[in-house]
Amino acid sequence: MRSNKRIYLSPPHMTGKELQYIEEAFASNWVAPLGPHVDGFEAELSSYLGVKGALALNSGTAAMHLALLLAGVGQGDRVFGSALTFAATVNPVLYVEAEPVFIDSEPVTWNMSPAALEWALKEARAEGALPRAVIVVNLYGQSADMDPILELCEKYGVILIEDAAESLGATYRGQKSGTFGRFGILSFNGNKIITTSGGGALVSDDLDALARARYLASQARQKARHYEHTEAGYNYRLSNILAAIGRAQLAVIEKRVEAKRNIFMRYQKALGAIEGIRFMPDPGYGRSSHWLTALTIDQDKCGVSRDQLIDALEEENIEARPLWKPMQLQPLYRGAKYYEHPGGSVSETLFEKGLCLPSGSSLEVEEQDLIISILQHALHSR
Ligand SMILES: *Cc1c(COP(=O)(O)O)cnc(C)c1O
Repeated sequence: MRSNKRIYLSPPHMTGKELQYIEEAFASNWVAPLGPHVDGFEAELSSYLGVKGALALNSGTAAMHLALLLAGVGQGDRVFGSALTFAATVNPVLYVEAEPVFIDSEPVTWNMSPAALEWALKEARAEGALPRAVIVVNLYGQSADMDPILELCEKYGVILIEDAAESLGATYRGQKSGTFGRFGILSFNGNKIITTSGGGALVSDDLDALARARYLASQARQKARHYEHTEAGYNYRLSNILAAIGRAQLAVIEKRVEAKRNIFMRYQKALGAIEGIRFMPDPGYGRSSHWLTALTIDQDKCGVSRDQLIDALEEENIEARPLWKPMQLQPLYRGAKYYEHPGGSVSETLFEKGLCLPSGSSLEVEEQDLIISILQHALHSR
C-alpha cells in the first residue's frame, strides 16, 4: 500500500487566487450575507454561459428546487427526469409533492433517450397527465442530445429544466451546456468541475422568473421597512465569501476542462484497446468537459469484474466508484414509473458495468500512470 495521500475521484482544485479574493471580502467586511462578490460572480457566470441572468445559491439542489417552483410544479403534478443520475436531480420533485417519472438513457450518449421520452409523453397525453416539466441531466460532463429533446418538449408544451451540475464548460453544437432549458442548474460542490466549497446557481434568460427566484431564495421578504411576508420563502443564497472563491475558480474554467479532457484521453489511449473495456462514447455533437472519466467493463470479455477493479484500486488507497445507481432502482423511488429505451434498459446495464476513475484536474501524470498500471495489471493477470 502506498503510504502517501489518497487519490480521490474529483477533489477541489484551488488556484491560489481564492485567498486573495477572500481577504478582500474580509477587508471590506462583506463577509455575509451577499455582497459585491456575489454580484460579480453572477455577472461573470451569465457572461461565460451566454445567458441573461444567473442567481448564485448555496447548492445545486436548492437551484433545482427553485427551478421546479418557477416552472409551476406543485402537488400532484408529474415531472419526467433522467433515470441515470445523482438523487439530488430529482429529490426536489418530492419537496414540491410532485410525482417523478423516470426516463432511461440511450446507448450513444448515456443521457436521456429521446425515444423513451417520446413514448412517455405520448402515453401521458393519452392519459391526460402530461408532465409540467422535464429534467434532463448531462452526465459526467457530456451534454444530452438536446435537439430532439427540445423538439419534444416544444411539441408537448412542457418546460425543460437542464441539470448541468456535471457539465459546466461543455458545449452542444457550439452552445454552452446549461443554457438549453427554460432553466439551467449548476453545482459548485467540492467534487464538481469548479467549486465554492458548496454552492450552486440557477441560470435563465427569463429575468422575471429569476427575480422571483431571488425573492424566494431570500426568505420571500416583501418590500417594506419592517419584515413583511405573504408566503414561505427559503434561505438559499450564497455568501459573499463563497462567491469570492467561485470567481477565482470560474476564471480558470477552461483550464480545468482542458485538464479533465486530457485525463480522459490518456486513460482511453492506455486502456481503450483492451477487450471488454468501453469508454463513454463521444456522440460527436459537442465538447464534453469529462467531469469524470467513465467506462464500462464487460466481465465476459475481459474476465475481470468492475468491482474487482475498484478493489484493486482501493488496495492502493485510490477511490473509484460505479456509475450512478438509476433512480428506478432506488428504494426511495420504488414504484415510480419508468420508461425504458427501446430494446431494453440502458441505465441498468450501465450501472452494472460502469466505472468512474479518478479525474481531478489536479491529478498528476505519475498518479494517473499508477492508476493505469494497476488496472492493466488487474486486467492482464486474470
Ligand atoms: C452534484 C449534483 C447535483 C447537486 O448539486 P449540489 O450542489 O451538491 O446540491 C445535482 N445533480 C447532479 C447531476 C449532480 O451531479
